[in-house]
Amino acid sequence: MDTAIDRANVNIASAEAGNVIEMRKVCTRFGDHIVHADLDLDVRRGEIFAIVGGSGSGKSTLLREMIMLHRPDSGTIKILDTDLGVLTADEANKLRQRWGVMFQHGGLFGTLKVRDNIALPLREHTNLDETLINEVAAWKLTLSGLAPETGLQYPTELSGGMLKRASMARALALDPELLFLDEPTAGLDPSGASGIDTLVRTLHDLYQSTIIIITHDLDFLWQVTDRVAVLGEGKVVGVGSMEELSKMDHPNIREYFDGPRGRAAHEQAQAQKKDKSQNKEQPWTQK
Ligand code: ADP
Ligand code: MG
Repeated sequence: MDTAIDRANVNIASAEAGNVIEMRKVCTRFGDHIVHADLDLDVRRGEIFAIVGGSGSGKSTLLREMIMLHRPDSGTIKILDTDLGVLTADEANKLRQRWGVMFQHGGLFGTLKVRDNIALPLREHTNLDETLINEVAAWKLTLSGLAPETGLQYPTELSGGMLKRASMARALALDPELLFLDEPTAGLDPSGASGIDTLVRTLHDLYQSTIIIITHDLDFLWQVTDRVAVLGEGKVVGVGSMEELSKMDHPNIREYFDGPRGRAAHEQAQAQKKDKSQNKEQPWTQK
């Protein structure tokens, strides 16, 4: 423990202990089509981490690999200190209970009422009785911004925004340590999208869970995320805060900042930051 190298190794080990996801040299292909080529990615505990990249750049596939719905052709994935490559069925089952997922297209069972969709993981993995399960389902609906009565409807009866919220309620059923959200604001009007932004922030404050989110939403990226990874050419071409990324040169990264929408979102984020810091300087007794 005395040499500088030992101390450096300890530092590396403790930095790694802060990661809830570690992907190393992940390769994925479908036939001849290479989607991920030696991709490395780390997500730290407690952060709101976004994955961005063009359509078809492999974002959803990456998420499916993290949650064990797709096995990469090579490379290693560690989630919550567990190597996904060497799991028993029992270990995999236990691990799945520690995360919640909101799929790109909702992913609720159409033949089940919303409440039963939320109850499903609770019935499967807990010993709670039916009364408590219904109470938990009602609470998760409320938390996701829906009235408990929504639980009695079928997914097809809900609007797009309500469906996203119901899907969020299901993802939260087991109080997950990790929350995966695949394009939660896609297809929503701006007010619905900003409602989801607020919801993600509230959930993060409430549970301190790590949130991994795939999104194109520039306002969300600037205002909610801690770090962002940009996918391109089968790799992570840049990772950092939006402020850090905004100074990087890679063309896949510049796409997010140089168009009129990118500039507008950046300006809005800067204006809000300025507002916040000015408000902080006000004595708290003044209204
Ligand atoms: P993104 O979410 O970034 O839009 P995806 O991860 O869904 O991209 O897909 C990445 C690429 O892999 C796309 O070209 C897609 O067509 C292909 N792909 C994804 N899943 C499959 C599959 N099950 N079979 C064949 N090709 C697939
Ligand atoms: Mg996708």
